[in-house]
Amino acid sequence: MKKVITIDGPSGAGKSTLAKRLAQQLCFQYLDTGALYRAVALYLRRRGYDEEISDDELRQALQEVKIEFSSGRVYINNEDVSDQIRTPEIGHYSSVFSARVPEFLLDTQRSFPEKHDTVAEGRDMGTVVFPRAWKKFFLTASVEERAKRRFNQLKEMGKSITFDEALRDVKDRDERDAGRAIAPLKVPEDAVYIDTTDLTIEETLNRIIRHLNSDA
Ligand code: C5P
Repeated sequence: MKKVITIDGPSGAGKSTLAKRLAQQLCFQYLDTGALYRAVALYLRRRGYDEEISDDELRQALQEVKIEFSSGRVYINNEDVSDQIRTPEIGHYSSVFSARVPEFLLDTQRSFPEKHDTVAEGRDMGTVVFPRAWKKFFLTASVEERAKRRFNQLKEMGKSITFDEALRDVKDRDERDAGRAIAPLKVPEDAVYIDTTDLTIEETLNRIIRHLNSDA
């Protein structure tokens, strides 16, 4: 197993941007586990499923699919779906289905650092998927700030969304992430906790690098 740095936190805390930049700077690979959850959601939506899906239907559907992440791209049965997963609808359903997906994705996530030093980003990286990671970080920000970031991100991508919708979405996801029975969002005991509400990406990145250097 190579080195693993975990970055956990709620929706809109800046994890993806940070994890990507950090991986680039350290020459690590970046593992975006949200993309895996989104790919599962896209696959289930394509098959016509919604929140009413039964446990049996879910188990059966997941037996017939291979979800992979490689070089920053995510694949459903070898089809690159990296762009299709970035919609508000798939974001919503990835959160709706997420409580019943962690076990299915566990091996895919754990096998990633067998080959590469990895920055792994998600909700349960430091607690469940990589409890023995080399370094752990937990990023958060106020709910309004996270909604603002989500809103700007989707606007930049040309998606139509209001600020109130973004705020509602962030709050709903917080509830589902923290409330689920399996692998809920929690601060890992040994993680460095960073509130990014008043920090730029650059400032947050510098804090992380300082921690890595001071502990090395
Ligand atoms: O981070 P992103 O918004 O792409 O994640 C989509 C959804 O997938 C989240 O709202 C969360 O419910 C779920 N997720 C998860 N565990 C992870 C990563 C994402 O439950 N490790």
